[in-house]
Amino acid sequence: MKSERFIFILFWLCSLFSVAFAQKKYPVIDRPIIFDAERKQLSLEYLYKRHGLKQTEPSIKPVMVVLHWTEIPSIETTFKVFNRSTIPGSRKELTSASALNVSSQYMVDRDGTIYRLLPDTVFARHVIGLNYCAIGVENIGGSNSPLTQAQLEANEQLIRELKSKYPIAYVIGHYEYTRFKNTPLWKEADPNYQTSKTDPGKLFMQKIRARIEDLHIKGAPANK
Ligand SMILES: [Zn+2]
Repeated sequence: MKSERFIFILFWLCSLFSVAFAQKKYPVIDRPIIFDAERKQLSLEYLYKRHGLKQTEPSIKPVMVVLHWTEIPSIETTFKVFNRSTIPGSRKELTSASALNVSSQYMVDRDGTIYRLLPDTVFARHVIGLNYCAIGVENIGGSNSPLTQAQLEANEQLIRELKSKYPIAYVIGHYEYTRFKNTPLWKEADPNYQTSKTDPGKLFMQKIRARIEDLHIKGAPANK
């Protein structure tokens, strides 16, 4: 009788611990941006003119996840920015390279809710030289609005999910992308086409790398 009671208490304690330490699962919500004939055409042109890849479909083979922050404070405003197919004329440094609007496959809100804007393997313009092989994750926040613990956990969840589906070999912060120049992965026609980036911050990358250490995913090559 005594041992039965002991086993019961052991079970109860185990279930209590598993609830307390179970990873919270953040929802992934489909919220597709416009991908009309114009966006398709501009994506194919970008793939050809900038990355040197002649394709009939605007698809990618993901081997990399690039983490960003938006510097735009809300999901709604960011969605509006990404939703149109062409880039506004005000972003001169980008329009000269292509009329295709910027976007990413995922957005992560400050409460960790994940929004999927495009299927994982559809082309998005979010990182010079590497779009053709990189899935983009935009986090709502920026230099004046540090990314949250929920976003850290949601990014980890998303990276683990993507790693289970694709041969993801690299996870990088956007500010690290130029380190791929002079590597076989870099595909950009104009050696001078480059923008300076700080997102999503070094601290966030340090934290995310510590959380996914067991996946043995590489970072960007070291600065030369
Ligand atoms: Zn970025």
